[in-house]
Amino acid sequence: MTLIPPSAFTEFDAFTAALDGRIPALFLDYDGTLAAIAPRPELAVMPDEARAVVQRLAALCPVAFVSGRDLDDLMSMVAVDGLVYAGSHGFDLRGPDLRRQVGVEYVPDLDAAERLLRDRLGGIAGALVERKRFAIAIHTRQVAPPDKPQVGEAVRVVAEAQPRLRMTGGKELFELRPNLPWDKGRAVVTLLETLGLEGNGTLPIYLGDDETDEDAFRALAGRGIGIRVMESPAETAAIWSLQDPAEATAFLGRLADWLAEG
Ligand SMILES: [Mg+2]
Repeated sequence: MTLIPPSAFTEFDAFTAALDGRIPALFLDYDGTLAAIAPRPELAVMPDEARAVVQRLAALCPVAFVSGRDLDDLMSMVAVDGLVYAGSHGFDLRGPDLRRQVGVEYVPDLDAAERLLRDRLGGIAGALVERKRFAIAIHTRQVAPPDKPQVGEAVRVVAEAQPRLRMTGGKELFELRPNLPWDKGRAVVTLLETLGLEGNGTLPIYLGDDETDEDAFRALAGRGIGIRVMESPAETAAIWSLQDPAEATAFLGRLADWLAEG
């Protein structure tokens, strides 16, 4: 449905009623969810206030970050010890007692695609090719609007030359990743199993703002709660919403207070 689901912040009491006594297991996207989108990925810094809230929550319930960013990049941006981190859309998982990588055999395909992309996009001002271990992001936020279709066309040509990869999109970016049945949703389900969070006493809650997060909302349908961070109506499988990263941080703060009160 295309709409804005009810706000988990302004309708916080109804939200906590839906927890029904279960302990949340929090899965958090980073960009656009806790860190405001910025012109370049390295400028999308999570405010200290959000970091403090995440630290408080981590003492109260399981917390994992699930991002399209490269794992090392994600861990250095969040910089909270002891959490579970899933980078490259969940292809790269790491936690205190966890290490798992999906699609290692696709790295040579990504290497070849990266070379082709750098060749083809070198002449387009503002086109940023960002290599992650298990994906390549092509950012268009700083490309002049008339040049943007050219970037999309170049990425499509490279995707066609690399049949073991598939092309996806997001906010102002294209992405190439292994053509495997794997996404943020599968990563979250795997993490629930691996971390022993499948029981009835736990309620998975996923916060995300973008198309790739919809895979997680769908994967959790019927067994968890999706919260989409969104300012305008969009097609979503999430059942709750939050307006922006500032409201998401305020919501998580309230959730921490509520959990601390027991
Ligand atoms: Mg995001």
